[in-house]
Amino acid sequence: MNTEQSSIWHERAKQVIIGGVNSPSRSFKAVGGESPITISKAQGAYLYDVDGNRYIDYLAAYGPIIAGHAHPHIVEQVNLAMSEGSLYGTPTPYETLFAERLQAVIPELERIRFVNSGTEAMMSVIRVARAYTGRSKILKFAGCYHGHADLVLVAAGSGPSSLGVPDSAGVPASVAEEVVTIPYNDVSALEAVFAARENEFSCILIEPVVGNFGIVTPDDGFLEAVRLVATQYGALLIYDEVITAFRFRFGAVQYNAVEPDLMALGKIIGGGLPIGAYGGKQAIMEQVSPLGPAYQAGTLAGNPLSMRAGMACLDVLMQPGTYEALAKKADILTKEIHAAANTYGIPHTINRYGGAFTLFFGERPVRTYQDAVHTDGKQFASFFHAMLRRNVCLAPSKYEAWFLTIAHSDDDIAHTVTAVQESMRELQS
Ligand code: PLP
Repeated sequence: MNTEQSSIWHERAKQVIIGGVNSPSRSFKAVGGESPITISKAQGAYLYDVDGNRYIDYLAAYGPIIAGHAHPHIVEQVNLAMSEGSLYGTPTPYETLFAERLQAVIPELERIRFVNSGTEAMMSVIRVARAYTGRSKILKFAGCYHGHADLVLVAAGSGPSSLGVPDSAGVPASVAEEVVTIPYNDVSALEAVFAARENEFSCILIEPVVGNFGIVTPDDGFLEAVRLVATQYGALLIYDEVITAFRFRFGAVQYNAVEPDLMALGKIIGGGLPIGAYGGKQAIMEQVSPLGPAYQAGTLAGNPLSMRAGMACLDVLMQPGTYEALAKKADILTKEIHAAANTYGIPHTINRYGGAFTLFFGERPVRTYQDAVHTDGKQFASFFHAMLRRNVCLAPSKYEAWFLTIAHSDDDIAHTVTAVQESMRELQS
């Protein structure tokens, strides 16, 4: 496969864009290789690079592209919105209409505020929780990613209930000390940390199904335990649904029955345009300005393009059978991956939930971030490149997911299965 033009564009990008990418995960740092592929067009299930190669896309832009690229209904609505002006700086009916529709499918969103990214949604929702509870500490789970704001770029300290340490240069130690990180799916650590720190926590942040150290579902009873502890100690439970909202049905309450106090949304809900949102219980959301003392604002927030793209995406997802079809495609694919890996004796574990899954190289079940860390990154990198050479684009990291979209056809799945079989054979040799 010729990817010469991709390399030329990457070299050119590096002269003006730091690192040649606008988000570090887009580089191939985690999987090696000279340069990432440079994509100039996408349609349906396919990405097209600047050398004219076509790839079946399971990256789905790290989640948002559930309807497939350039879905005609979304394109039509965005074109219409653009022709009527992209930003007014005033209230517009589209933000209210979209908020009403979000509330109709996720009734726990008693009040909503739109922002422009998942990071902003998480920053804002944490501020609201702190304002409401009058407390500052935050509990999060190792390996769950909540955006790139200072407060959530914090890794676990040395002991199970110790305060966090900065996970990035530029995050002050004093900020990291506000955060405690414990392992996902670990009820004992959760109970211990709350027993030790009693009423210090403003909130617990959690991905109700993890998407950031691969797809990892909560153990039976885990979210119930988290809810119980939050209630018992007066901390708010915040669902980070930036990946999960509209991916595994509309909101997590639909499949796990544990109600958060607040939630943050992003990615898919914008139909491929920049968006974030947060919301939840009205009494808590009343902290937000202009009603309350917690300030949060945005020049581009609730812009008519993102609102109308989001509504169009919701129209598509509300067609009967959407989620069943996504899950079925993922089920077929994962069964074939298992079979191919077994044929060539490649130790592996697949975690699937609905229409998303992660293939880990290693036999041990993955329930926590540490489990994911111990999987074989070198083998993943070889597999990633073997698949790319066969025109299948995966996320360039062992911690990411394969996302199925409405656009993936039976033929795409069949081509992918052949690519998997050949790539597994290559790994064995
Ligand atoms: N929360 C979760 C669960 C995410 O996966 C991400 C991004 O991957 C974010 C928050 C941050 O969203 P954004 O990249 O839109 O800022």
